[in-house]
Parts: sequence; structure tokens; C-alpha cells
Amino acid sequence: MAQLIADRRDIDFVLYEQLEADKLSTHKKFKEFNKKVFDMIISEARTLAIKEILPTNHDGDRQGVVFDKGKVTVPPCFHRPYGLLAEGAWTSMTASLEWGGQGLPEVINRAVLDYIWGANYCLANYGTMGHGTGIMIEHFGTQEQKSLYLQKLYSAQWGGTMLLTEPQAGSDLGALSTRAVKNQDGTYSITGTKIFITNGEHDLTDNIIHPVLARIEGAPAGTKGISIFVVPKIWVNPDGSLGEPNDVACTGVEEKLGIHASATCTLSLGEKGQCRGYLLGEENQGMKIMFYMMNEARLNVGFQAFTYGSAAYLYAANYAKERIQGKDLLASKSQDSPSVPIIQHPDVRRMLMWMKSHVDGMRSFVYYVYSLFDRIATETDSGICEKNRDLIDFFTPLVKAYLSQKSFVICAEAMQVYGGYGYTAEYPIEQLLRDCKITSIYEGTDGIQSMDLLGRKMSMKKGVLFQRFLSEVRETILDAKKDKHLDTLAQALSRALDRLEPVGQDLAKTAASPSVKTAFAFSFPFLDVTGDVIMAWMLLWRACVASKALASNPKKKDVDFYQGIIKTAEFYIHSQLPTTLGKMEGIHNLNTAAIDIPDACFGG
Ligand SMILES: Cc1cc2nc3c(=O)[nH]c(=O)nc-3n(C[C@H](O)[C@H](O)[C@H](O)COP(=O)(O)OP(=O)(O)OC[C@H]3O[C@@H](n4cnc5c(N)ncnc54)[C@H](O)[C@@H]3O)c2cc1C
Repeated sequence: MAQLIADRRDIDFVLYEQLEADKLSTHKKFKEFNKKVFDMIISEARTLAIKEILPTNHDGDRQGVVFDKGKVTVPPCFHRPYGLLAEGAWTSMTASLEWGGQGLPEVINRAVLDYIWGANYCLANYGTMGHGTGIMIEHFGTQEQKSLYLQKLYSAQWGGTMLLTEPQAGSDLGALSTRAVKNQDGTYSITGTKIFITNGEHDLTDNIIHPVLARIEGAPAGTKGISIFVVPKIWVNPDGSLGEPNDVACTGVEEKLGIHASATCTLSLGEKGQCRGYLLGEENQGMKIMFYMMNEARLNVGFQAFTYGSAAYLYAANYAKERIQGKDLLASKSQDSPSVPIIQHPDVRRMLMWMKSHVDGMRSFVYYVYSLFDRIATETDSGICEKNRDLIDFFTPLVKAYLSQKSFVICAEAMQVYGGYGYTAEYPIEQLLRDCKITSIYEGTDGIQSMDLLGRKMSMKKGVLFQRFLSEVRETILDAKKDKHLDTLAQALSRALDRLEPVGQDLAKTAASPSVKTAFAFSFPFLDVTGDVIMAWMLLWRACVASKALASNPKKKDVDFYQGIIKTAEFYIHSQLPTTLGKMEGIHNLNTAAIDIPDACFGG
């Protein structure tokens, strides 16, 4: 079976032709790098992913993690590639040089992760989570905490986690009940139970550093009274060596649909009354600090989802070229006409085209969002930085929720292309589909993301974020209108954008009115149509780049590639976007039935 993860030609197109990432090295911050170095890093990541990481994905799924007497062991085949990830510094690509990182651009890191996460996310994430823990300590910790933890977290020598969820506090973290009491030595004693904790306990690293949300005695109720603590699994001595174990006990792991090789742990803090941690930042600032990390984590989850969708599409396309079944429609009446690969059947081509349009659009979108961080890092004009920050804020719930929704459907469509074989564990789609599902649930469910988009992002700065997004799309439309081959596509996207603007503004107004419940019954559909418009925008942008490239007499294989990009934009904008306009009408009608219907009518 072919080993497929990500499409290098498309990665290069997005990086260099669409986003011009090679120009980053002209800025002081990235002057150590150039395109040759970027290419070499991505090629090495690809080799590592294909040779060392991908072969552990299926075994990891079959074996899962094992819980025994408080210890969790990962699939044995994970140890070697984890060591390679740490040795090769693959987990600290974007971390600062000061703390042992590589200082690479975010967008280049995404190309690396396209391969590494695409090969085995569960394995890679044992190393990635330390980065999230680390950035909170880097921004809010003391100098001593930074010196003790950062290098080891970024280098994946130690693991990281995030301890938010409790049985009664999932989406509503304000309901959490883990308690913290200040000790005389300045540490805090912590007591409580956290559930569903990814990588909460495992045998890949000597230590795990837990950021824990808890309420200090006497703190206000709700999210305003939450603080955040750094709780190491093993205490760290002032010289950096490991000391006594902390009172953090793993009491079990979840059996679950997918990501079997990821340890989803229940952690009991302070069973013996001896769990201690350091306050991070100030008292009652826990949510603000955790959100610093959660915004990164939400983008990461969207990217995780995308890698499943991208791999599923590539497998399906490859299978469709090889699987022989049925006759060509034009020759079906002739008994002796040969059977053909299923890629010849229009309905299979429809499925592949739907998958391709979303995978291409999602790669461009998510890389573009990461490139905004690089633009901020290389920009001195504060106005431009603020604009890019606004765009990142606006896009974060969309990356998380739209990509997780569409990637799951892509996995389902890929299974459809395979027919019965796709449903079996012998082929990779079944695992991709199961693994992908979690992305719509954790890091704030997709429903919660849509509420963030409508309730916060649409009204922030009096609607400026939404306007900034619309202006970005309009720039691409203007560019496309100058190209006679793309003018019709540009006009179609312009019509969709002109409809999205009042739909979004009216919905945001309703969300701030007594009809708030009706508005939020449409927050998810609104996120969905905004995501659709973003796909059309990205595909049109890609088509503009491809059309210009075609005009400069490229090589034959590039001609096919660029024509494919234009056909994909044509498919999406002419065949899919009209349904988005219909969905927008469904939102604008603001029908109240979902709110009015008596509860008793649900469930018979
Ligand atoms: C495999 C796995 C790994 C995880 N890893 C971690 C981790 O590392 N750290 C951690 O802290 N947590 C982790 N979680 C927990 C995860 O973040 C939560 O499951 C998630 O936030 C949802 O919370 P819940 O399960 O309690 O569902 P609930 O909050 O009960 O939600 C149930 C449904 O109700 C909806 N809902 C809830 N409240 C509202 C509202 N106000 N308005 C509209 N709809 C609402 C939700 O969207 C959802 O559809 C993990 C979970 C899983 C399954």
C-alpha cells in the first residue's frame, strides 16, 4: 500500500507561490534561513515521517495505551520515533533561540507538521503538548520557572498537559471545583479530580509538567475566580535535577472510539493531601493565561483535523486510480468493453473533487493564518500588526471548527470511495475517520467555537474584525477580476460575500437583543457559511496565482497542476457556493422553531 501523508507539490505551492514564505528570510528575524534551508528541513521531515513515524500509526491504534497500577505505557513502537523527534529538535521548531528552539517561521513549521502529524498525531502530540505548557511559563512565569522548565519542555525531554476538565465542568469551566490553598513557603496545596487529560501520564518522558486550573479559597465564583498553577509530576530541584514525586495519581485511562495511542487520563490531585504547585501569573487570572495557550491549541486542533482529511483524500485518490470496477459510461452497452479504474466514474470524480477542493482550500487557509503570525513577527508598523492580530482572532474558531467538521466528512467520503474495503481495518481510512472525530469535541466543542465567533468575535471592536476579513476577501476578488479567465468566478464570490455581510451583521445584532436564543440557534450555521466563503476565497486566490503561472509557460507537469487548481476553484465556486447562498437564507430567516418547540417533543 502506498505511504501517503501530504502532497509536497501543493505544500510548495502554498508556501512559496501563494504566501511567498521564501521572502521571510529577507527580514532580520529570519535572516539565518533561506528557501534552500526551508526545503531541506521539510524534506527531512517527510523522510522521518514516512520511514520512522507512519509505520507506528496502525500498530499504535491496535495496541493502544495500557494502564496498570497508576502507570500508563504507550505502544512500545513509539519509543524510537519519539527519541528521534526529540533528538532532531522537531518539537521546538518555532520556539525561541533563548530556550533552545530553532526560531523558524510558523508557516514553515506547518509544512513540517503536515508530515509529522499526518504520519501519527498521537505519537507527535506527546512531544507537542510541552510547547503549549512552555509558552504559558515563558510569558507568565518567573525567571526561575523559565530556567527550570522551558528548555526541557520545548525539547520534549519532559511532557506537558492541560488540566481543565472535571466531571461537572466541561464546556463550562466556571463550574470547576479543584481547590488551592496557599502554603507558607509560597506554593499552593491542590485538591481535586481532573478527567479526560491528554497525555496526563505516560512512560515516554521522565517528568510531566501539568498546568492546572483551580480556585483559591475565597475566590469569586465562575471563571473570574480561577487561577492557574504549574504542578510537576516530579518536583524539580533548584539545580534542575528531579526530586520527590508530587501527589498526582493517574487513576485510569478512557476506552474510546479513536486516538487509541493517546493516553486520556483521570488524574487525582492531592489524594494524600500533598499535591503542591506554583501559581502562574497572578491570582484569579487563570482563564486569561490559559486562553493564551488555548488559542494556540485551537489552531492546532484544526490543523490536526486537516492532516486526517488530507491523508484520507490522498489515499482515496490513489485507490480510485487502482481499483478496477465497472465500465466507462460511454462504453457500457458494449459487452466486451474493458472494466475501468473507478476514477473514470463521474460519481467517484464528484467525491474526489469535493475532497480535493476542501483539502486545497483548508491547507491554504490554515497556512495563511499561521503566516499572519510571521507577518506580525517581521512587522514594525503597529497598525499592520494589530490588523493581523484581529484577523487571527477572527479566524481561530473557524480554523478549529470548520476544519474539524469538513475533515471528518472528507474521511467519510474517502471511505465511500473505497467501498467495503474502506470500512475494514485492513485499510487506513477506518482509523483516520475514528481518529478525526475527536477534533470536533475537544479544545471547546465546535458548538462553543461557533458561539465564540458570533458572540465575541463578531462584536469585538464594534465589528472591525469581520470588516477586516471582508476586506481581505475583496482584495482577492479585485485581483481575480483583472484576469479574464477568472472574472466569472470573482463575480460569484463577490455575490456570496455581499450576502454574508448583512447575514452576519443582522445575526450579531440579534445576538445582542432579547432574541439572543434564536440568534445562537444559528451560530453554528453562520460559522459553516463563513467557512464556505473562506474556502471559495482561498480557491480563487490559488486560481489567481495559478493563472499567472500558466501565462509564463511552465513545464508540462506544472501545467497540469496549475490547471487543476483553476478547475478546483471552478468546481467549488460554481457547484458548491450556490448551496452556501441557500444556507445563508436559512440563517437570515431566523426561524424560531428550534427554540419554541417544547422539550417534551424531543425524543418521542
Ligand atoms: C479524548 C479526549 C481528550 C481530551 N483532552 C483534554 C485535556 O487534555 N485537557 C482537558 O482539560 N480536557 C480534555 N478533554 C475534555 C474536552 O475538552 C471536553 O470533553 C469538551 O470541552 C466538552 O466538555 P464535555 O465533554 O463536558 O461536554 P459538555 O460541556 O457537557 O457538552 C455537551 C454538549 O453540549 C454543548 N454545550 C455545552 N454547553 C453549552 C452552551 N453553553 N451552549 C451551547 N452548547 C453547549 C456542547 O457543545 C456539546 O455538544 C478531552 C476530551 C476527550 C474526549
